[in-house]
Amino acid sequence: MNILIMGPAGAGKGTMSDLIIQTYDIPHISTGDMLRENVRNNTPLGLEAKGYMEAGKLVPDAVINGMVEARLQEPDCEKGYLLDGFPRTLEQANTLTEIAERIGRPVQAVIALEVSFDDLVVRITGRRICPKCGAIYHIVNKPSKVEGICDVCGAELVQRKDDTVEQLKVRMDEYDNNTKPVIEFYGDKGLVHTVNAGKPADEVFAEIREILGEIE
Ligand code: AMP
Repeated sequence: MNILIMGPAGAGKGTMSDLIIQTYDIPHISTGDMLRENVRNNTPLGLEAKGYMEAGKLVPDAVINGMVEARLQEPDCEKGYLLDGFPRTLEQANTLTEIAERIGRPVQAVIALEVSFDDLVVRITGRRICPKCGAIYHIVNKPSKVEGICDVCGAELVQRKDDTVEQLKVRMDEYDNNTKPVIEFYGDKGLVHTVNAGKPADEVFAEIREILGEIE
């Protein structure tokens, strides 16, 4: 299965992706996670991306496209892929079309998560992540068992530097200007499934399962 999950920051792309890959045996490819790993490891790509990410701005297409192209050629993608947070610009979408054609895995469905701005603020400012294993928590909606400590690996939880209201506004502008046209691009091909992601996670996932069940 070859799918994309899209939505503004805080819409629940990471949480839904974790649930999707528990059901479908495909790799979860999050460009945000890949970039954060590069930043943590101080790679040349990470050093280039860091400033953009902390400001809530999009990292340049050339950097992202090369990274995704290499990843999609790894053997685990022979089963398909769940791309999370890519493509975010029309140029990235065109690149994906080329790569997908080359590897014989065209996009089959785009899950577009929608959440009101007020709900996004609550989600983003309360989000905590584990810097070691990537587990995602929320101080109210999904607290860890011991405050500030990851249930999975025991590391100290942190708040992402871009998870502030100011950065959320910048990221929303990027989303409206660059990523909404991408949703229209796939909408014209009849591939977009819009999901109201303002509901509890299990209800959102039930809707996604139904959509994916139809394309299996
Ligand atoms: P995310 O974890 O998906 O919210 O991504 C965090 C940040 O990484 C974004 O605000 C961008 O700075 C950068 N980023 C992730 N994916 C992309 C992409 N496809 N294109 C450009 N920048 C990206």
